Amino acid sequence: MNLVLFGPPGAGKGTQARLIQDRHHLELIATGEILRQEIKKKTPLGLQVEHIMAEGKYPSDDIILAVFKKRLSQVKDKGVILDGLPRTMNQAKKIAETFKELGHEIDAVIQLTVDEDKLIERLSSRVTCEECGRPYPKDFPFQRVEACSKCGSRSFSRRPDDEPEAVRTRFKVYNEQTKPLLNYYAKQGLLKVINGMKSIEEVNQEIEALLEEMQVLTRKSGCLYSAQDI
Ligand SMILES: [Zn+2]
Repeated sequence: MNLVLFGPPGAGKGTQARLIQDRHHLELIATGEILRQEIKKKTPLGLQVEHIMAEGKYPSDDIILAVFKKRLSQVKDKGVILDGLPRTMNQAKKIAETFKELGHEIDAVIQLTVDEDKLIERLSSRVTCEECGRPYPKDFPFQRVEACSKCGSRSFSRRPDDEPEAVRTRFKVYNEQTKPLLNYYAKQGLLKVINGMKSIEEVNQEIEALLEEMQVLTRKSGCLYSAQDI
């Protein structure tokens, strides 16, 4: 089973990806995270993308696809969850080609939808510890923070990119980039839409129900094939 997770920043995509990964023994391919590790390790690739990512921009399709292919070759025939890619039509098409070459395909594209205004309100109420940089709250819903649990500091401030204006810009970029992709996957019957504004548990239950339904369908179609064979 190969899945793609879609959702704007703050939709809980990363959290859900990890829950699905644990439960279904899938490999997570999160290109953003892989590249941040490369930067940390100061590899040639890390040095190449460092300045691009520091500006909040995305590396080229070639870089993203190279990272994807390398990671995919490491996981062999295990199913994967893609988080943070594809972001462009070119990436989506190349990813589909790569899966096809390996005899696989994307089984579902799960879109976590959000209420933009509510999410902006929540992201804007997120604060960061001024001493150690730890963000609060880590998960929705927002809870009042008295002192940093990591360093004990009582000074908190808001990240520049969590300012309402910056959050709106991030949404705008997301909407512009992903809309064509969502149409592309919807036409193939792969797009599944889930309300990402519910609690982490509720969203996870809905995803699980969806995956269960898909597996039932797969089993059924398997039966049909064998019936036809007879
Ligand atoms: Zn702290």
